[in-house]
Amino acid sequence: MSNLNAQTDAIERRSHRSIPYAGTIAWGVVGLFVERMGLASLRKRYQTARLRALLYHAYENVSFYRRRFDEAGFHPDQFHTLDDLQRVPITRKADIRLATDEEAIAKDCDASLLYRLFTGGSTGEPTRLRFTRYEDRLLRTFRLLAMMRFGLRWRDRRSQVRMDQPPPGRIDDSFFLPSQTLHAFLPQEEMRANLRQFKPDMIRGYPSVLALYAEQITDEDRLLIRPRFVTTDSEVLTELARERLEEAFHAPVYDVYDCYECNVIAYECPHRDSEGTRNGGYHLMDTSVVVEVLREEQPVPAGESGEIALTSLHAWAAPLIRYLPGDVVERGGHGCGCGASNATLAKVFGRTHDMFLLPDGRLIHPKYLTNPMLPLMSVLRLYQIVQERSDCVVVKLQAIPGACIDEKELTLVREKMQRMLGDRVTVSMKLVDEIPSEANGKFRPYRSCVEEGAGK
Ligand SMILES: [Zn+2]
Repeated sequence: MSNLNAQTDAIERRSHRSIPYAGTIAWGVVGLFVERMGLASLRKRYQTARLRALLYHAYENVSFYRRRFDEAGFHPDQFHTLDDLQRVPITRKADIRLATDEEAIAKDCDASLLYRLFTGGSTGEPTRLRFTRYEDRLLRTFRLLAMMRFGLRWRDRRSQVRMDQPPPGRIDDSFFLPSQTLHAFLPQEEMRANLRQFKPDMIRGYPSVLALYAEQITDEDRLLIRPRFVTTDSEVLTELARERLEEAFHAPVYDVYDCYECNVIAYECPHRDSEGTRNGGYHLMDTSVVVEVLREEQPVPAGESGEIALTSLHAWAAPLIRYLPGDVVERGGHGCGCGASNATLAKVFGRTHDMFLLPDGRLIHPKYLTNPMLPLMSVLRLYQIVQERSDCVVVKLQAIPGACIDEKELTLVREKMQRMLGDRVTVSMKLVDEIPSEANGKFRPYRSCVEEGAGK
């Protein structure tokens, strides 16, 4: 998963007077209202109408798509319903990465006025993004809408723990949504002091980074640090990190599934039953991004997993159509158990890049392997499941200081994993003192070092 607040290598900002694609931005605002109103039929009509307009725009103005549509024998006149989107060619990360500005940017757009953002990306595939500043703001407003679904109110104080540029400790004390930006690498004591001083109603950050700070929160801190909710994004939220955060902040944790390219793709269903149990699903941000879940380029039915394909409805300067960011998700039904009419994702697994290709030809996502580990979770600080070779899986376990991992329990877990992976794979469990994050600061709970995995 890529993220919105990790390192950026360059951002170029220029001022300009007119609003590029003013009409489409206005349509974006309509999308916010449609999302807010929550009528399924209206969402579908909105998606179909905006997709049709986007396909014509891409065909007429973006040579990258013109050429690909022509090669695939597709013309936007053939688009009538959402199902017709399957006739449009897929865009792989490598395709769009190799495209020049002339190919990828719409010819009716002044390329010199765009935000340019190069993301390093932990996959080793740098992604180049181009937005107008209004497109960027619109997508941020969709994120705000997701936060409001979690319970954010206008005067709420937000603490955001980020990896990238904002100076440490910055406070924006505006009347609406006063916010504090904290750098993820602040020393523990300084981070807690900042939070105590600011008294946030909402805390946002990478799950792994927040979980590390959460360990140090004391009862005294909790008298002042009392967020109504915590929200995580940018990397996989493990159950372990969720538990740690909920315990530390005495507040629910809501996850957002996002990417640099489209901002919010889906947000966790905030509904809890009378016992506080989550239904575990994600509401798709239908009026911002059209989501498909594909296996071998064919849509999978609800309840099955596949690779996600995104079409951003509000990226007109440099459209993204049927774009594969490289994540595996499980498709949910239309409409959520909580009554929301959004289409849903049942689960977000993480990157295709991290899937394990086993010697028997099976391709599995390592998140499945965490089920046998549940009995160990109460004593774990962090874990990482690494496929070092196709026949060798190593589970690294870092215990909470002072906690003891039961040998018998460990053997049972290993045996269960072994059964899941098959006889041709060696599973070993390693107790370690530290599990480092990636160079970009993100933590990867699952890693495959095997060259030939899917999506690579
Ligand atoms: Zn729901």
